[in-house]
Amino acid sequence: MARNILLATRPRPACCLCGREGLVLHDGLQDRLFNVAGEWRLRQCPDESCGLIWLDPMPLEEEIVKAYAVYYHSLEEISIGQGRWSVRLLRAVWKAWARLTRADQFQRRLDRLQPRGRLLDVGCGVGERLARMRARGWAVEGVEVDPRSVRIAREKYGLTIHAAAVAQAGLPEGQYDLVTLSHVIEHVHDPVALLRECRRVLRPGGRLLAVTPHAHGYGHRVFGQDWVDLEPPRHLYVFSALALRAVFERAGFDTPEVTLLRGANTLFSPLGSLEIRRQGRCVPGTIPPLRTMLAVPLHQMWQACRFRFDPRYGDEIQVEATKADARP
Ligand SMILES: [Zn+2]
Repeated sequence: MARNILLATRPRPACCLCGREGLVLHDGLQDRLFNVAGEWRLRQCPDESCGLIWLDPMPLEEEIVKAYAVYYHSLEEISIGQGRWSVRLLRAVWKAWARLTRADQFQRRLDRLQPRGRLLDVGCGVGERLARMRARGWAVEGVEVDPRSVRIAREKYGLTIHAAAVAQAGLPEGQYDLVTLSHVIEHVHDPVALLRECRRVLRPGGRLLAVTPHAHGYGHRVFGQDWVDLEPPRHLYVFSALALRAVFERAGFDTPEVTLLRGANTLFSPLGSLEIRRQGRCVPGTIPPLRTMLAVPLHQMWQACRFRFDPRYGDEIQVEATKADARP
């Protein structure tokens, strides 16, 4: 595939949380999923009490939208429309497997939340999770910057979507009982500012639930620079549990509860990583060769086993935080 999308960037040698110069963790990475041009470096903060991983150089904020010109929503469009049968088949297998293995611990946590009130999903994509939460009794709204995802969320599910970045959406202060961020915080330039805005729109006592890839889980340990969730240049950060806690505290959440989850993408994570290792890229929506298909369940079982005895092998971090009543 031609790498025809160019992004303007700026160097980011230092950690945005503690200011220390980052050590080079991976260098010469390319976009392995879609078609953004360029070579990318990931740095890691040398401070063990931080451990943040970030992209250097980093695309300019005003340029980053180009990195999503081809993205997962395109697969959704294909599967809604005339549809390549392989895309439809893979999506069906993916969903069935996720249900069977009950791997989406984040969704299961959301399903248990009571009482059900007003929910805002920030970075809601095409709105699948919102539709599910609405069916469980929540009054739901989404925020999404990508116009194609907004269109699908409105047309397919009839959802109320604010088509803007959350800070520009003109949302009222203190109105939501729950704000969710699923695989969003790693995509934004200023995670602290994002969380502050989420905190502002929460009512006092309201909760924020976020989930993001875990920098030190099974995927990164086993697949190294081939781990699909590094996803340069769309993932600007990959968080350790400590770094993520620090980001929440800076945004004004006093006692964020940080939990390592096994990871919802038990199918796509090894599949994508194995394909990147084999051929330098993973092409979403294509059927991989038999040897990859056979290796995926072995990785799934081994990761489940490691995670059972050591949660640090979890591939996702969940944070649950409450807006304290007293502070503004
Ligand atoms: Zn740091």
